[in-house]
Amino acid sequence: MKNLIVAKFGGTSVATFEAMSRCAEIISNEPNIRVVCVSAQSGVTNRLVRLTKADVTLDERAQLISEIKEIEYAIVDALGRPEWVCLALNNLLNELTAVANSENLVGSMQLKDQIQSYGEQMSSLLFAEVMRQKSVHAVNFDIRQVLKTDDNYGKAQPNIEQTRLQAEKLIAPELEATVFITQGFIGSDDQGQTTTLGRGGSDYSAALIAEALHAQTLQIWTDVTGIYTTDPRLTQAARPIPEISFDEAAEMATFGAKILHPATLIPAVRSGVGVFVGSSREPDVGGTWILNKVENKPPYRAIALRQDQTLVTLKSPNMLLASGFLAKVFAILAEYKISIDLVTTSEISVALTIDSPTNSTVTGLNQVVLDKLAEFCEVKVEEGLSLVAVIGNHLQANSGVGGKLLTALENFNLRMICQGASAHNFCFLTRAQDAGKVVEHLHEALFDAI
Ligand code: ADP
Ligand code: ASP
Ligand code: MG
Repeated sequence: MKNLIVAKFGGTSVATFEAMSRCAEIISNEPNIRVVCVSAQSGVTNRLVRLTKADVTLDERAQLISEIKEIEYAIVDALGRPEWVCLALNNLLNELTAVANSENLVGSMQLKDQIQSYGEQMSSLLFAEVMRQKSVHAVNFDIRQVLKTDDNYGKAQPNIEQTRLQAEKLIAPELEATVFITQGFIGSDDQGQTTTLGRGGSDYSAALIAEALHAQTLQIWTDVTGIYTTDPRLTQAARPIPEISFDEAAEMATFGAKILHPATLIPAVRSGVGVFVGSSREPDVGGTWILNKVENKPPYRAIALRQDQTLVTLKSPNMLLASGFLAKVFAILAEYKISIDLVTTSEISVALTIDSPTNSTVTGLNQVVLDKLAEFCEVKVEEGLSLVAVIGNHLQANSGVGGKLLTALENFNLRMICQGASAHNFCFLTRAQDAGKVVEHLHEALFDAI
């Protein structure tokens, strides 16, 4: 379909019947939106993840399930409790309860993905009904038929080619007549088992579907009016950015700006889909366009903050004048699928930062990995750190960048200062308890005077 728009609505945008109705209004007003990707209602995935933990008690489990039911039923009640919707919802809730009670859940990454998938499944079921009650011809479509992935549960990688073929076969022919309401975040592997793309993955799902259907635009509707100079929760001085390049936005997402899942822009760049980010609460105030080329390329564009960082320092006298030490370290981290953000080295040591994700079924660093590393070097682990990234343009070529940033932060203890790998970022670590103040100070120095 020409001019196709794929729209994604995040957790707060679909949290209640009223919020869903605002999203339905956006869709009704734009006939080119034919594919809609929804997240689970805000707070549902966190509860589902909690259900997968080994230390959850029977009472807590019952409480979590009852809270999820309450969120879903508040919407069903507002919809007038249509019989078939209640039936379909009860089926999903019963399945969810059965998986939550399964003895195998704690040890099975596959069941953990299965349980996390119910949030999006329930959300799309209810949202499709909201659309139908607005007399829109909408179907609740199971995206697991289209979004094919590998079986790396918890952080599955998409199979682009299979996803394209399935989208062309199952969605494209019906686009003129139907609005597809479908789930973000979930997919299925070769065996048909449910997978998830990692927390916040609905943005990525929507981008993959937009790519597969050769959409013109991807709209990401969330709870803020676009991408800001920094997370508006960190400082009131943050302000929206009308246009930003793919490169800058990708760096922001990578370095923790939660507004976009880090992989979202990969399919968008690959297929040239324009991306718009706006607020479903205030659709008319505009938002941010993420484009291939932008006119304005300021040296400082934004500040991103990523919490829960672990700093690992590996020290080995054998590293002196030796080759292969780093290769050995990286091979172990790769084997356990642990990704590294920052790296610095000295004569006999290397320091790395690693994400320690909270509210996730994927664990970061674990004792097995540390023991393997300890076989050939001294290992030191520090937690309670945050990664701050200044995103901009030509940061490596502009003189005074380092001086300006470091002067603004002279009263803070900074670690692992890194610049050089990209022209778009300047990063460092700071103590978690200082992170908010660091961002505020930096924002004032870089943006408030402009
Ligand atoms: P959704 O559920 O819609 O996907 P998220 O909570 O994942 O929403 O992402 C939106 C949130 O991202 C905002 O509420 C905001 O706090 C946070 N955020 C982080 N960095 C930025 C930024 N630079 N600009 C705007 N929002 C940001
Ligand atoms: N519901 C999932 C999560 O909370 C995916 C998403 O919202 O993007 O992580
Ligand atoms: Mg999100």
